[in-house]
Amino acid sequence: MSTKRDYYEVLGVPRSASADEIKSAYRRLARTYHPDVNKSPDAEERFKEIAEAYEVLSDAEKRAAYDRFGHAGAQGGFGGFSAGFGDFTSIFEDFFAGMGMGMGTRTQRGPRRGADLRVGLTLTFAEAVFGCDKEVEVVRAETCPRCFGSGAEPGTSPLRCPQCNGAGEIQRRQQSIFGTILTSSTCPRCNGTGEVITTPCAECKGQKQVQVLRRLTISVPAGVDDGTQIRLAGEGNQGMGGGPPGNLYVAINVQPHEIFQRRDNDILMELPINIAQAALGAEVEVPTLDGTARLTIPPGTQSGRTFRLKGKGVPFLRQRDRRGDQIVTVRVVVPTKLTPRQRKLLQELGETLGTENLGDSRGFFDKLADAIGDLVQ
Ligand SMILES: [Zn+2]
Ligand SMILES: [Zn+2]
Repeated sequence: MSTKRDYYEVLGVPRSASADEIKSAYRRLARTYHPDVNKSPDAEERFKEIAEAYEVLSDAEKRAAYDRFGHAGAQGGFGGFSAGFGDFTSIFEDFFAGMGMGMGTRTQRGPRRGADLRVGLTLTFAEAVFGCDKEVEVVRAETCPRCFGSGAEPGTSPLRCPQCNGAGEIQRRQQSIFGTILTSSTCPRCNGTGEVITTPCAECKGQKQVQVLRRLTISVPAGVDDGTQIRLAGEGNQGMGGGPPGNLYVAINVQPHEIFQRRDNDILMELPINIAQAALGAEVEVPTLDGTARLTIPPGTQSGRTFRLKGKGVPFLRQRDRRGDQIVTVRVVVPTKLTPRQRKLLQELGETLGTENLGDSRGFFDKLADAIGDLVQ
């Protein structure tokens, strides 16, 4: 009937595990597989499986029933897993609070934290490097201004739910293999709120919140990079019933630059020079984030040689006075089109160079001959 995995196996603990061992195994796994963190397609399924296993093994009675009767024992008389969900949520929230994440509570009554929201923000290379002020748009849930979050049309008030008598849950006695068991479930009529709105607010249709488009100006610090997330505390969905608001996360996307590339806080660029500059040395101008800088190319510079311009890189995030470097890689460009005069000059040059000047004192072609000789032998 079911292909459920063994709950101990799911949490990776022995059958003799203590309550503390079970709790810490659960926390570790829940962090790994939380769908907000883990984007793999089966994360959500795994997460549910882990939550379900913990739900049973963390409760001494349910664990005992499971140990004796397996999955049937855990589910048979205990009304599924909704009963303990509030408990599971609170554990979950306290350890995700430290990471700035929350899943919102599933409890229907009382304060409810607003959900976190995410928006993307595209910056130019320079905006990311130096920081900027930017406007972002977000559509978020806010308390309905017409009913002030009651959900009832002004002038009317919600009635106590007739089905649960305002309790929000319905209790039932059930006979099971364990004797009489009292189960409670959320009242279907009022969804656990204990109240029924007879005349819904005309603006929010009784939802207590409305979707509002907000434009927020955010101050992007210098040094952000592609993939940086900026957290705007309390700018997510507003809470319900006096609960705190969620956060807004702004995901930064940086456009590529034509010349510069970024490697952490260093700026990389390639600088083409001609063969005369490489051989004779030269003073050249190099673009940097702060305008042009002069760079001395020493005589005899080879293609691929790098030069470091100290402090011309990207400021470190939130330490503006500390900057990376700019690393310039020289590319010696061999001319592809020659005027007759250039051709003649190069031919003359070639005759004077021979092959002996291509490497160190022992010529490149000598080494090449040795290498080939090695291969032949
Ligand atoms: Zn309203
Ligand atoms: Zn009710």
